[in-house]
Amino acid sequence: MNRRSLSPKLKLTVPASDEGSIAEFLSETGTFKAGNLLVNKEGVRIVSENEVETQPPIRPLDNQMSLADIDTIKVIGKGNGGIVQLVQHKWTNQFFALKEIQMNIEESTRKQITQELKINQSSQCPYVVVCYHSFYHNGVISIILEYMDGGSLEDLLNKVKTIPEPYLAAICKQVLKGLMYLHHEKHIIHRDLKPSNLLINHRGEVKITDFGVSIIMESTSGQANTFIGTYNYMSPERIIGNQHGYNFKSDIWSLGLILLKCATGKFPYAPPDQREGWENMFQLIEAVVEKPSPCASSDDFSPEFCSFISACLQKNPRDRPPARDLIEHPFINMYKDLNVDLSAYFSNAGSTLATM
Ligand code: ATP
Ligand code: MG
Repeated sequence: MNRRSLSPKLKLTVPASDEGSIAEFLSETGTFKAGNLLVNKEGVRIVSENEVETQPPIRPLDNQMSLADIDTIKVIGKGNGGIVQLVQHKWTNQFFALKEIQMNIEESTRKQITQELKINQSSQCPYVVVCYHSFYHNGVISIILEYMDGGSLEDLLNKVKTIPEPYLAAICKQVLKGLMYLHHEKHIIHRDLKPSNLLINHRGEVKITDFGVSIIMESTSGQANTFIGTYNYMSPERIIGNQHGYNFKSDIWSLGLILLKCATGKFPYAPPDQREGWENMFQLIEAVVEKPSPCASSDDFSPEFCSFISACLQKNPRDRPPARDLIEHPFINMYKDLNVDLSAYFSNAGSTLATM
């Protein structure tokens, strides 16, 4: 055996008898591709994700990645619990998002969190953001996530203000597929579905992120639960703490509010005085619990869209259809013939890709 060191981290072992033929091959073609492995005169490396556009996210780094292996490029977002950074793996050049949540926790809580994050890591669905790895170090939970180069639906809304129905139907279809996976296959309730937890990319994909994270927040004595934003998309049964009636239908309520916000550009529960905003979270909570559900105006939207919203925003969770029924709703397929191009829409919306 002849061992050739081709990169500081990766060694390619070739039998001595084959060495000549590989060298000949390289001098003839310059490049040899086998799956994600790229071999050329400079050495051998794994091709980064943006070079293999049609490939699904690469998973095998799971047990190999450590924080020492990544370079920070820039901060791309901020949430209640911490920051999200764009990072690049040093020797594969692959981009990831690194989410850091500041949290001083006890050993028992840490175990619970590890458990939750394991659920995240085991999820494999094209409509759910891949969680590659997580670490706990010095009071900070670091989670390495699939990088979504269009940011969140919240970021998109800040640019476009409202999203037309045909695009909404295409977005909603993907979210429902993600929810079908979480609810019906994994038996997970998201609990914190909102525009900033729906991520988009230049391929026109929409994926759900941060499921399980809300449970972490709740279990750590409300460290991050003091913001009114946390309650915005919460269902009435969840707000009043009805554990009995609280199940995955709570996510369907949130989906209804998200769609309404995307369609109208406004959060559906308006504060009494528009200029002031909500004085405190109790006003919002009271409105969600006491007032009739918001609805889409039939003057501005199709009957199908109005009916979809009304199905999601039933106050009694039992009256809300599950994701697997909602995907059959007429609204989801009514614009099918338009062949809506979400990839072009997301790109034209002006989101400069952080990696470019
Ligand atoms: P909360 O802390 O209440 O969950 P949030 O969802 O806004 O609020 P984060 O989850 O930290 O907070 O996300 C903040 C922003 O970071 C998102 O709006 C999005 O722009 C960006 N972001 C998060 N995850 C990714 C990712 N995997 N790829 C690309 N951008 C991301
Ligand atoms: Mg989030």
